[in-house]
Amino acid sequence: MKKVYNNIFPVKGFTSMIIWPFIFIRNDRVWAFNTIGERHEGIHGRQQKEMLILGAIIAVILAVAGCGWWSLIALPLFFWWYCVEWLVRLCIYRNKMTAYKNIAFEREAYDKQYDLIYLDQRDVFAWIRYIKQ
Ligand SMILES: [Zn+2]
Repeated sequence: MKKVYNNIFPVKGFTSMIIWPFIFIRNDRVWAFNTIGERHEGIHGRQQKEMLILGAIIAVILAVAGCGWWSLIALPLFFWWYCVEWLVRLCIYRNKMTAYKNIAFEREAYDKQYDLIYLDQRDVFAWIRYIKQ
């Protein structure tokens, strides 16, 4: 994954975010980005690749069904799921940070970011197990 140091992404208060294959790291938070953070983003990278493939399959099905260019809206499926799950959890927890930490993608990443060999043995779509917890 390619690291991109900048002043814009992610929003203030966060250190890094991944839009696979790029990890964006805030210049004012470089000191806070370490191997644990890199592993956390690596888990998100794996999740994003899985969801990109699933989104592409859905896009092809929609295109075949006659949805035209609108089919492409399925491609960034990871980000759609992330936003919708955050909104649902915001309704449940009534707290932005708690909602964020409880998104299934984040639950998996925070749970396994200290595990050095997790990505070597991770099951495909392992994040699904974290939806109900
Ligand atoms: Zn995360």
